[in-house]
Amino acid sequence: MPDTIQPDPHGFKRRGVLFILSSPSGAGKSTIARKLLAADPSLSMSVSATTRPMRPGEVDGVDYHFVDLPTFKEMAANHEFLEWAHVFGHRYGTPHAPVDKMLSEGRDVLFDIDWQGAQQLHQIAGGDVARVFIFPPSLEELERRLRGRNTDSEEVIAARMDRAAAEIAHWDGYDYVLVNDDAQSCFEKVKTILGAERLKRSRQTGLIGFVRALTR
Ligand code: 5GP
Repeated sequence: MPDTIQPDPHGFKRRGVLFILSSPSGAGKSTIARKLLAADPSLSMSVSATTRPMRPGEVDGVDYHFVDLPTFKEMAANHEFLEWAHVFGHRYGTPHAPVDKMLSEGRDVLFDIDWQGAQQLHQIAGGDVARVFIFPPSLEELERRLRGRNTDSEEVIAARMDRAAAEIAHWDGYDYVLVNDDAQSCFEKVKTILGAERLKRSRQTGLIGFVRALTR
C-alpha cells in the first residue's frame, strides 16, 4: 500500500485505514456503510466488480461494477484486483487502482467484502487494515430481514442462510466484532472503531519528525 497523505486537524500526515466491514448479507451492513460514508467526508467506498446479476434498484458503477465472466477473468489475469473470491456462485473482486488513488489522495477506504476478501487484504496490507465483523441479532432475525428485502427467491434465501452460517464461522478472522441489534448504536460503535484506528501509533508517519525534534 502506498504511503498516504492523511492530514489530521493538527496537520500531521498518517497512513490511511483500509476499513473492512463484513457480515452475513441481511445483517444491516450496507445501512451502516451508508451512514458512515454520509457522516465522514474523508472516507470513500471501494466499489467491487462482480459477475452477479444486478438487483432492482442497483446502479452500475455505484453499487458494483457489473461485469461478465470473461471481463472478470481478464481483469484478474491483468492483476487488476487487490483480492477476489467466489461468493454465492459468482465472482467478486476489489479493483486495485481506485484504492491506491483514494489512499494517495489522503482518504480512508471502506470495503464491504466477505471473510475471504478480508483475509486476502490483511495478507497484503497487514497493519493498514482494520477488520470489523457485524453479527445479526439472531439467525431468525436475519431470515426475517432477508425475506423483507423481497429481492431474492426462496432458494436464494435458503442459500444465503447457509452462507450466513459459513460467514459467521470465520468471525475469528476479524479485529472487531459487534452485534447489529440497533442500526444507530451499531453505526456509532463502528464510527468509534474507525476513529480509534485513525489514531493508532503505527499510522502516524507524520509524527515521527515531530517526535524526533522533541526528543533530540
Ligand atoms: P451481495 O451479492 O449481497 O451484494 O454480496 C454478497 C457478498 O459478497 C457480501 O458478503 C459482500 O461483502 C461480498 N463482496 C462484495 N464485494 C466483494 C469483493 O470485492 N470481494 C469479496 N471477497 N467479497 C465481496
